[in-house]
Amino acid sequence: MSRNRRGRNVTSPRPNATVRSPPPPAPPNAASGVEVRQPVALNGVRPTSITCDWCAQPTIVKPRGRVPRWCSETCRHRSWEQGRAAASGRSAIQIVERLVQAPAPPAPEQPSPTPIDWPETLGALAAQLDSGRIYDRDLVTLSKALSNVFAAYERHPGVRRQR
Ligand SMILES: [Zn+2]
Repeated sequence: MSRNRRGRNVTSPRPNATVRSPPPPAPPNAASGVEVRQPVALNGVRPTSITCDWCAQPTIVKPRGRVPRWCSETCRHRSWEQGRAAASGRSAIQIVERLVQAPAPPAPEQPSPTPIDWPETLGALAAQLDSGRIYDRDLVTLSKALSNVFAAYERHPGVRRQR
C-alpha cells in the first residue's frame, strides 16, 4: 500500500461508547468506480446511491445523515428479523414451494324434492322402468320403497276423506 493514511481522522472511542466491530475491508474493485454493496463512504466520497442490503433495489442516499444500508424501514426490519432468526438457529434453511392439491369440497346435499317435484320425479322413475334402465336386481328394493310410498299415501288424511 503506497497511500498515505495521515489524512484519516481517527477518533478515540468515548469511555461509554458502544464497541463496534470494524467495517469489513473494502473489496479490491472499490476504487474502480464499480458499484459495490458497501454503504460506508469510500475514500471520503459519500455515495449518491446504495443497493439495499435486503431487496437489492438501488436507493438514493440523502445528502446528510448516516448512509443507509436498506431502502426502507421494512427492509431494515426484515434484515433484522433474518439476522435474529439466524442467530437463534431456527431460521428456515430452504424455502420449498410445491403445489398442494386441496381435497374437493363435498358435493352439495341434494335438496329433498318439493310436492311440486314429485309427479315429475315419479314420472322419470316410470320412464326408467319402461325403458329397462332399472335392473332386475334393483326391483326388490324399489318394490319396498314403492310399497312404503303407497302405504303413506293411504294414511294421508286427505286421501281418506275422499273415500
Ligand atoms: Zn429494500
